[in-house]
Formats: sequence, C-alpha cells, structure tokens
Amino acid sequence: MLPEEIDALFRARGLASYRSVQVVEWLFQHGARSFDDMTNVPKSLRSECAEHYSVTDLKILKVQVSQADRTRKFLLGLSDGAMVETVVLPEGKRSTACISTQVGCAFGCPFCASGKDGLARNLSVGEIVDQARRARFHPDIGNLTNIVLMGMGEPLANYEATAKATRIFLHERGFALGKRRVTISTAGYLPGLEKLAEDDLPVRLALSLHATDNATRNRLMPINKKYPIERVLEACNHLLLSRRTPLTIEYMLIEGHNDSLGEARRLAGICQSLRAKVNLIPWNPISSSRFRSPSEERILRFQAELRKAGVLAFIRRSRGADIDAACGQLRASSTTKKA
Ligand code: SF4
Repeated sequence: MLPEEIDALFRARGLASYRSVQVVEWLFQHGARSFDDMTNVPKSLRSECAEHYSVTDLKILKVQVSQADRTRKFLLGLSDGAMVETVVLPEGKRSTACISTQVGCAFGCPFCASGKDGLARNLSVGEIVDQARRARFHPDIGNLTNIVLMGMGEPLANYEATAKATRIFLHERGFALGKRRVTISTAGYLPGLEKLAEDDLPVRLALSLHATDNATRNRLMPINKKYPIERVLEACNHLLLSRRTPLTIEYMLIEGHNDSLGEARRLAGICQSLRAKVNLIPWNPISSSRFRSPSEERILRFQAELRKAGVLAFIRRSRGADIDAACGQLRASSTTKKA
C-alpha cells in the first residue's frame, strides 16, 4: 500500500494521523516484519491492525553469496509455496537490487532460465516491495541505492502491481529513491509500454532488444512475433518524446546469433534514432543450452563498432555468474511449488 492509502485507512477508522505515520515508518524505514514489531504502537492497535491487515513477509529460504564479487542471491518463499529469486549487487558503498515481478515468465526466450517453465502467476505489490525490503534491511547489505525491475518475469505484463510498487520505491515516505535510481525493464510488451506512456511514473526504462531484425528476434524472443521490433521501437520513441525518459538498450551477445558487425551497425542506427545507450551482456550459461558467449575479441569488436558510430556502449560483465545470479540465469526450477 502507498503511505497515503495507509493514512486513509487509519483516518477511516478514526485513528490519530500520527499512528499511520508510525506504521509507515516501521514498514519502510525500519523493515518491520509484522505489526508486533512496531513497538511504539499500542498493543491494542497492533492487534486491531493484525486482525484486518497483514504485512507481507517473504521467507528467506536460501542465500547464496558469489565468491567472485559478493553478489547475493535470495531464494524467497511466497505464502502459497511458490518461490522467486532476488539478486543484490554491491558496488562500493552502494547496492542495487534486481527484483522479480512474476513467478516464471510467459515469454519463453530460449537463452533465459526464467521462462523455462512458463508463467505461474503475477506477484502482488506486497511481494514485489518485500523483495526490496528484504534487501534494504538485510544486515550484510549496505545502502540500497538502486532498484531494477529486471529479475524473473516481464514487469509490464504485471503493470498495475509493478507501477504501484515503483511508486512506493520513489515515495518520500517509502524508499525515497530518486527517479534515476529505479529502472523498469521490458522485453517489448507493447500494451505495457502504451500504459506507461499514459502514466506519470517517472522511472528509467530499459529495453531488452537482443536482436536487430524480426527474423532473429522471433527466434531469440518469441514475444517479438506478437509485438515486432518496429512497433516496440515506435512505442519507446513515443514514450521518450512525451516523457524525456532516458532509454537503455540491453543486448545479450550470443555467438553466431546476433554478434556480427552488420548487427552492430544496425544496433547503432537504432540507438542513434532513440538516443539510447547500450549495455552489451555476454550470454551467461544456463544448463542444457545450445548457446555460447562470443569470444572476448568478438565482444570488443562489436562494442568498437557501436562506439565508432558515436553510441555509448558498455560491456556489462557477469555479476554473480558462479551462483546463477547473472542476467538470464534466474531459475524457473526454483519457483515451482514443492510437492
Ligand atoms: S528474457 Fe525476459 S521475457 Fe524472456 S523469458 Fe527471460 S524474463 Fe521472460
């Protein structure tokens, strides 16, 4: 719930306004896991709250820490037995949480583990926000400065919950993150992009493109058969013009599929027309996959071709690959309910 929605509930019950201020602070500034944790709220009021409402409390089932770069992957249990994964990437005194928005994913990109078992269900607002609360208040994690909605699932296919969770991340009484610190990533889900264009949500947008023509993208990202590249790019352009939202293009490099110099030139053209920067992500291995990452030399040549065209192009090195926490590695096998 947004802080003002909690205020309204308290008002409707005839409770003093400072009580809802206390509850909101407990939720977002102190990470309370239950109403009982809210020790400066009278016991009778805590009981009344617990009778009518609940605090989403995802169970930490497993934490893996990368020996290479201290990336942490949380396996979190939902109340119905489903599971999701959340990744926290430390960077000096800052850290970024990569949050999931769905259990599994409907779009089944063959290079990505998240869609292997299809979509089980959307996450609720509370389940999305609690992943960030788990990261923010974990004793071993420093200052949570950035949130990317880029974990399992397509955020814009769960639009209402994603948008509301994002408002809580931005809200000054919520996580109070700046608008440049929250990013929504999409595989090009057109209905969601259209909703975002009509919304006033001041977030950064990342487009997982991964191919520059429809034939290749149809193979790598089946969502493209329904929402082809030209329509997705047009929707992004419309969004950028109306909102001046900066765009980042995510481009996973897969040997022999999308890593030629011709593709680098086409990608440069797309970036120039959208004034977008590019993150190049060498493909991260998942089990029983036919794909491979290009050689270092090929990756650098691809980047150089983009830079030659004046495009800002960065290589995003795998973070947490040794614990299967890198892009495309969040596992569908961890999300199914155990028998
Ligand atoms: S890459 Fe994104 S859209 Fe494709 S299966 Fe993975 S989570 Fe879904």
